[in-house]
Amino acid sequence: MPKPSKIICAGLNYKDHAKEMGLPIPASPVIFLKPPTTLICDGESIIYPTKFTKELHYEAELAVVIAKDLYKVSEKEAKAGILGYTCANDVTARDLQKIDGQWTRAKSFNTFCPVSSKIVKDIDVSDLAIKLYLNGEIKQDSRTSQMIFSPAFIISFVSQIMPIFAGDIVITGTPPGIGPMNIGDEVVVEIEGIGRLVNRVIADE
Ligand code: MG
Repeated sequence: MPKPSKIICAGLNYKDHAKEMGLPIPASPVIFLKPPTTLICDGESIIYPTKFTKELHYEAELAVVIAKDLYKVSEKEAKAGILGYTCANDVTARDLQKIDGQWTRAKSFNTFCPVSSKIVKDIDVSDLAIKLYLNGEIKQDSRTSQMIFSPAFIISFVSQIMPIFAGDIVITGTPPGIGPMNIGDEVVVEIEGIGRLVNRVIADE
């Protein structure tokens, strides 16, 4: 998998999560970026930046890996430009997100974007179970059919704004049940037909 130039993220993209947050369904995708320096793989550790946050949250997400350069493309062209799908965790310092009112600091510490290196091609992602387990206990349990904007729609939308390159990763929002992780915790993102992403939380020292 080539190193991405950027990780494109959709916020508030599940109907059931918007309801949980008491927020209206957005009329167009809410997007933000995580720097590629946040990327880690299966089995690598999430570092808890204890000097900066007291509220480190998990967010289980379906990730899309881009196959070719895309700029100002239609939804159909966007779909044809998808290499495949995998599991991601959009790690977030929730307290910093609230303090800052925008999301860059809260989402951008090193190790804040675990993404599985197992990419699944040719799968219909319109209605898959998406789950998150913390120390074996289920915390998020929804279906991708709850998504407001499809992956192809998000990619087409973003490509009107900026070029998307082969190897870039798009993470597509999280379902309800977001919550805290602590040092020593094992966090698992599981998506039906795609696989599992397992990471542990360690102290920053
Ligand atoms: Mg997210």
